[in-house]
Amino acid sequence: MKNKIVYTKPSISKLEIAYVTDAVTHGWGDKCYDYIHKLERNFSEYLGVKHSIATSSCTGALHMGLAGLGIGPGDEVILADTNWIASVAPVIHLGATPVLVDIDPTSWCISVQQAERAITAKTKAIIAVHLYGNLCDMDGLKQLAEKHKLALIEDAAEALGSEYKGYKAGSMATFSTFSFHGTKTMTTGEGGIFSTNDKALYQKVLTLSNHGRKAEQTKQFWPDELGFKYKMSNIQAALGCAQLERIEYLVERKRHIYAYYRQAFAYDTNICINPEPKYCLNSAWMPTLVFSKKSGITRQHLSEAFAKEQIDARVFFWPLSSLPMFIAQPEHVHSYDICQRAINLPSYVDMTEDDMDRVIAVVRGLLDANT
Ligand SMILES: *Cc1c(COP(=O)(O)O)cnc(C)c1O
Repeated sequence: MKNKIVYTKPSISKLEIAYVTDAVTHGWGDKCYDYIHKLERNFSEYLGVKHSIATSSCTGALHMGLAGLGIGPGDEVILADTNWIASVAPVIHLGATPVLVDIDPTSWCISVQQAERAITAKTKAIIAVHLYGNLCDMDGLKQLAEKHKLALIEDAAEALGSEYKGYKAGSMATFSTFSFHGTKTMTTGEGGIFSTNDKALYQKVLTLSNHGRKAEQTKQFWPDELGFKYKMSNIQAALGCAQLERIEYLVERKRHIYAYYRQAFAYDTNICINPEPKYCLNSAWMPTLVFSKKSGITRQHLSEAFAKEQIDARVFFWPLSSLPMFIAQPEHVHSYDICQRAINLPSYVDMTEDDMDRVIAVVRGLLDANT
């Protein structure tokens, strides 16, 4: 029987093991924040922003960032219907109302026109999620945010290393968030980070992240307000520091895998892969194929064909509004259509060309059988 091809897993080198060993052996007492602060400094520098706060997850970073902006009951927050639930859950936990809109069929990210149409007097923010490494139309969204005085948030969890007109994904908004979950381009096991150039917002979120204790508060065990506990441990941060030192390599490998798949299907009119417009660099967290309608190939066909070959490919995100806790919005035609005929391909950093060829063969077999 063929070996199983997983869809993603981290690349762990001697450096990660050395840093984690150091943190777990020596990183206590006076040193219990050393790797955390180093990760925050180095991440800010990598992104080209002023401030970062390491967190236990991207969801937590988003929750605190939205709370830091004062978003709550009566407020509306706009985001794309095509998303993972983590991007919307914090909006709801804060008592605010998420307003889902359709995606752009080319970028698979939020449609600027649809976002504009959804703006009301209650709108406070737009969350731009860079799907699968693809980039949102940041110029369009920035204009919209400025015109209507809205906060623009980048959930860049899937786009670490992607660039838009020379700016790193996650460096262009009021604040941004990233995930270091084990499936992401860089990992701390579980973890995330909040980044911003806004000093006042940074200080606000720093206080929130420390159970509401202000940095200047000298009284012990004295929260100044009700906050959160979404911290990253020093041991996780040690892993993150090592991954960040290797980030150029990790992104280069992701891009190599993306380029290999892209080349394989370059002349196939039945397949679209993640776009990379001239002014963007796609860090290709998740190489994804969208099949043409006329190919007749569906999510069901794809899932079955890959499972049969021991290949863990994943379905495209369901529209959030199709999930049980929301009201269906099938008028979001692209969100409801594209996910019917799309698949995420395996793309872990250490993947071999033989493994990629096995993935490509499954796709070719399906195309031959159906077209
Ligand atoms: C993975 C992911 C998240 C969730 O990250 P956690 O660290 O698991 O909270 C949030 N947003 C996007 C866009 C993601 O891809």
